[in-house]
Amino acid sequence: MDQQIDESCVFCRIVRGDFGTQFVAQNELAVAFRDIEPKAPTHVLVVPRRHVRALQEAGESDGDMLAALLLLATEVARREGLLASGYRVVINDGPDAGQSVDHLHLHVMGGKRLNLGLG
Ligand code: 5GP
Ligand code: ZN
Repeated sequence: MDQQIDESCVFCRIVRGDFGTQFVAQNELAVAFRDIEPKAPTHVLVVPRRHVRALQEAGESDGDMLAALLLLATEVARREGLLASGYRVVINDGPDAGQSVDHLHLHVMGGKRLNLGLG
């Protein structure tokens, strides 16, 4: 069972406000903030407020959380003016995908023509 907050997790601490990170958008179950090393003009991370290690940890009871993540991703795209030009939503799940932070997160990227970069 996941804890609400993992003290050793940087995204849990961002969600809690430990670093004063500005949220681009938020809802009841998820928050969005800018990636510290942006790979595109808009590069925002959308994370659940609750500590979930990775997508593969989400189960049947996490439907509301998963929906909240996707809805917040589109809200970010709307606020960033990306709906017409388009944007990408990416989840890296595990080592081969390059997941480097063990707290589920969606990358919302746009503002330029993105390379496919799918492997
Ligand atoms: P992953 O490689 O796990 O899919 O993505 C992790 C992302 O988190 C990377 O793009 C990285 O730049 C970003 N990141 C890592 N640490 C921090 C942090 O402390 N603050 C912010 N805003 N982004 C971070
Ligand atoms: Zn966490």
